[in-house]
Amino acid sequence: MTTNYSAEQLWQMDKDHFIHPYTDFTTFAEEGSQVISQADGMHITDTTGKSYLDAIAGLWCVNIGHGRKEMAETISEQVLNMQYYNPFGHSTNEPGSVLAAKLAELAPGDLNKVFYTCGGSTAVDTAIRLVHYYNNIRGKNNKKQIISRNNAYHGSTYVASNITGIHGCKSNLDRIADSWINHISAADMFHRPKGAENLSEAEYTQFLADEFENRIVQLGENNVAAFIAEPIMGAGGVLVAPAGYHQAMHAICQKYDILYIADEVVTSFGRLGDFFASKSVFGMQPDIIITAKGISSGYIPLGAAIISDRIWDVVSDPKTGGGALTMGYTYSGHPVACAAALKNIEIMERENILDHVKEVGPYLQEQIKTLSDLAIFGESRGSHLMLGLELVANSSTNEPFPSEVGIASRVFEHCRNAGLIVRPVGNTIVLSPPLIISKAQVDQIVSTIREAINLTMLDLA
Ligand code: PLP
Repeated sequence: MTTNYSAEQLWQMDKDHFIHPYTDFTTFAEEGSQVISQADGMHITDTTGKSYLDAIAGLWCVNIGHGRKEMAETISEQVLNMQYYNPFGHSTNEPGSVLAAKLAELAPGDLNKVFYTCGGSTAVDTAIRLVHYYNNIRGKNNKKQIISRNNAYHGSTYVASNITGIHGCKSNLDRIADSWINHISAADMFHRPKGAENLSEAEYTQFLADEFENRIVQLGENNVAAFIAEPIMGAGGVLVAPAGYHQAMHAICQKYDILYIADEVVTSFGRLGDFFASKSVFGMQPDIIITAKGISSGYIPLGAAIISDRIWDVVSDPKTGGGALTMGYTYSGHPVACAAALKNIEIMERENILDHVKEVGPYLQEQIKTLSDLAIFGESRGSHLMLGLELVANSSTNEPFPSEVGIASRVFEHCRNAGLIVRPVGNTIVLSPPLIISKAQVDQIVSTIREAINLTMLDLA
């Protein structure tokens, strides 16, 4: 949609009325927003006409790239055919049914049932409600505790935000009273807790697994319902677990009859080279997968909780007291969103985008390491097209920059001036480009970041 408002008028209306998520209202009141008005392929353009290479895929979501005409045609066709009818009870729509079957085909193991939501946070809430329902039906009414991890990001609804482990982002916001939400350590090779600094990777995995098991014992195994984890923590700064971690945590879940919820909002739909990463990349079969973002490449909001037959068999059985689920969203299985998701998947399959990610992803991870000669390079980490570059005040000791320096934001500003959008998270520069990125664009990103870091170091000198 284009309106007749000038760039100045748009900026003013936004500043006066649009409450933006995760925004510092003080700086916002002074600076307002950059209004993005066009997007095509790997690029976005703002109302000043300046174009940028989008190295964050909107927000980890525009996996097939911006501005695909056939996505627009599919969406328009679905709107004209049947834009909405409710999905409650026994009514459905064609794209919703076909997509559910397709997701069951793509998801690992017996994850064959799909509950649609409006995004990632609502999918997390849905999963937790389902887990509690599952345990109530099994007569395990005390099995309510959820174990999450520090630095995890699981969303912004009340429950999802409480499960989130980035505690700094919850200042002056309430916790759920009498909470059944717990946090254990992040699986984070770079910032290990005291006592774990010198452990080998395998020993660190064991250290984290022991902490998990001890927490279960402390809470009582009959009280713990589920463990929730992102395969690689995204918004926490692209934190990669040590080898074998997810399998070790899964084995403990199985030992204590605890469900494993894999939050694949970021890692699904190709970012790690497969439709879902839990099984194929990390060798672990979760009980529930949460997905959103890349499922529709952000063209239309959509999320889903995909659950196992094992859970379904219990919650759908009237003999055990299940059989009806009194929860749902007006827009569960929205036909336009599901049609967009189906087209998105078709494009990924037709263009062999997953194979492309398997080639260009390792290239990105390798090329970013060429920046290691820079004095403030701490570490680069990630997998395929999910990358974190952490900057440190002293690269021999890995001493962090004080947060007041805002090191990543400074680099972000220099990148933006040079026509590149990256994402600053703490002291880390995060990259999650559209999956169609070329090797030449990877080179462009790496050289622009090098220049931006050099300029930042000059600013601080
Ligand atoms: N889970 C993870 C891992 C995420 O990264 C996000 C969003 O970034 C969410 C859940 C929440 O998704 P949404 O913002 O669509 O509600």
